Amino acid sequence: MSIKPLIIGAGVAGPAVALTLKRLGMNPKIFEAAAGVSTGGFAVGISPNGLAALKAMDTLDLVTKNGHPIASVTNRLPDGSVLASLSTYGSECTARYGNTQIAIRRAVLLDGLTQRAKDAGVQFQYNKQLVAISESHADGGGSVTATFADGTSETGDLLIACDGLRSFARSYVCGEQDQAPVYTGAVNYYGNASFPDDATAPPDPNLVMTSADGWMWGQYKTSSTRNEYTWWAAHRAPPEPESWKTTASEQHHELLKRELAHWGPLTHAMLDHTTSVAAFGLYNRPPTARWSRGRVLLVGDAVHPMTPNIGQGANCALEDAVVLAKCLARYPDYNAAFARFEALRKERTARIVADAARVNATSYVTNPLASWVLRQVTKVLLGMPSAFFTVFEHPYSYDAGTVEA
Ligand SMILES: Cc1cc2nc3c(=O)[nH]c(=O)nc-3n(C[C@H](O)[C@H](O)[C@H](O)COP(=O)(O)OP(=O)(O)OC[C@H]3O[C@@H](n4cnc5c(N)ncnc54)[C@H](O)[C@@H]3O)c2cc1C
Repeated sequence: MSIKPLIIGAGVAGPAVALTLKRLGMNPKIFEAAAGVSTGGFAVGISPNGLAALKAMDTLDLVTKNGHPIASVTNRLPDGSVLASLSTYGSECTARYGNTQIAIRRAVLLDGLTQRAKDAGVQFQYNKQLVAISESHADGGGSVTATFADGTSETGDLLIACDGLRSFARSYVCGEQDQAPVYTGAVNYYGNASFPDDATAPPDPNLVMTSADGWMWGQYKTSSTRNEYTWWAAHRAPPEPESWKTTASEQHHELLKRELAHWGPLTHAMLDHTTSVAAFGLYNRPPTARWSRGRVLLVGDAVHPMTPNIGQGANCALEDAVVLAKCLARYPDYNAAFARFEALRKERTARIVADAARVNATSYVTNPLASWVLRQVTKVLLGMPSAFFTVFEHPYSYDAGTVEA
């Protein structure tokens, strides 16, 4: 009988893990707390390493067909004038890492991954919030049981927890030693904007960033076929929950229009065409010493959550899915497979988590001298691709498809 992994969470990691484990001949089932495929969230940038992982899963077309490739990176001053630009960003990425970066709405990516997993025969169950885990250790066998808030339960051979930043399974794996997420002091506002197809002057479709007045602004187009954009704007602010819900949309929209009132028409065109906004508190979670316990393994944000400052959360989740399948294929004993997975992934993800935290801690500059220094550094980096890509060499150069378990 084929191995039955219970996968908890249908964010980015869950369906990706289901796909890679299904291809091993396993019979994974997904349990998600939400009522259906998430339509929440804004966009994710799938960088060369994430694209390599999708390629290894034979799902690269999901993003090449539905997302928007980033050809250039431009840093603008608040009035819209160009401070510096790396016009060859896309082609340099392809030359160095075999892939460029593709921006895509998170809901579109999730929908595509979910559909591929369903087509492969994976069952999804929604409204299933994990509330308890138990393991039985029968002689020569054993199993793990997940119990859900609605009182139902499911028993399988393994439990792969892809349940995000506030993972319930993480409390089972790490116990009381584990530390809760810590607010970093910064809030990121996200918005989706839509421009008419016949817009006379649509915004730059590539990555545009502005750093000024304590704010870090970014934007890009998220579809090659529609005039859809996502923007984000982060600054220091009192704690907000790390919720992607857009319920307070109007209030946040108004706040941004007010705070950035003196910025130029490019920013205001984006805000004026915005259809949804959310405020998302940025949290760090101290690394956990344990990644697994018995038949339970943590994957994605459940084990290495990171702030979105270098755009690697979804990319690392995709890498995890590819590497985990290699480990389970190589080691029939799940303990050995989980240990190998941790050995292969811990150092890399810890470095990315730390890099993201560092960027978050140094981004929201208000002091005039520090702002001037930041602008000079930006000019040097965007003007010198070799220096620019040194910064991204570690995350971008990884190809999960070539990792040897
Ligand atoms: C609604 C939402 C929107 C997001 N939007 C963006 C975005 O616009 N840009 C960006 O850069 N990042 C976004 N993220 C974060 C990004 O998706 C993750 O950082 C990254 O992709 C890692 O994916 P993950 O699958 O590990 O975690 P997540 O994507 O966070 O997925 C975790 C999943 O587990 C489910 N879950 C949680 N607890 C339980 C439980 N007890 N039982 C069952 N299911 C549970 C959640 O509902 C969720 O679907 C968003 C996350 C969420 C949840």
